[in-house]
Amino acid sequence: ETQQKVEANILLLGAENVGKSALTVRFITRRFIGEYGEIESIYSHIDTIDGREISFNIWDSLYPQSISEKHICDRSSFEVVRQQVQRIRHASRKMSAKAPIIIVGNKRDLQHRRTVSSEEGRLLALSEDCVFFGISADETYHGVLLVFHGLIDLIEESRALR
Ligand code: GDP
Repeated sequence: ETQQKVEANILLLGAENVGKSALTVRFITRRFIGEYGEIESIYSHIDTIDGREISFNIWDSLYPQSISEKHICDRSSFEVVRQQVQRIRHASRKMSAKAPIIIVGNKRDLQHRRTVSSEEGRLLALSEDCVFFGISADETYHGVLLVFHGLIDLIEESRALR
């Protein structure tokens, strides 16, 4: 019995220092390392989810330095997400299939330094037809899995609609 292989191309967007590399490395290695350097990388990773082979291509993209955020838990990183999501939605308005988007509120462990509520993330997701997860790449592997497995579900849903 041959099973259809699923290929998922995932682009990580967001301000500098929000934890894009941490999320990717945690997903692939299950480890939280701490420092990740400044390289833009493409990661290929094959995983089996519910008995199916999934091939992940993850673009961990560097946001242009000019809008660099030096501080974590910075409200402006939320505005970067809002703009990026709106830009994607605007660009694809004429297409029949919507790009699957998950908005990630990372660093949930840094509660005391929080400047954006998860309610705001949830509302943004609702208004732009995205899914929201508040997670910590540092604290738990579980939340990271929710994000990447959630993407697979959304990708398959959107392919089924084509
Ligand atoms: P990127 O520029 O978006 O790829 O961000 P990095 O993955 O390089 O992470 C930036 C910094 O935030 C690093 O020092 C990470 O160790 C730290 N970091 C990433 N995720 C978390 C998290 O969930 N909690 C905490 N406390 N720190 C995190």
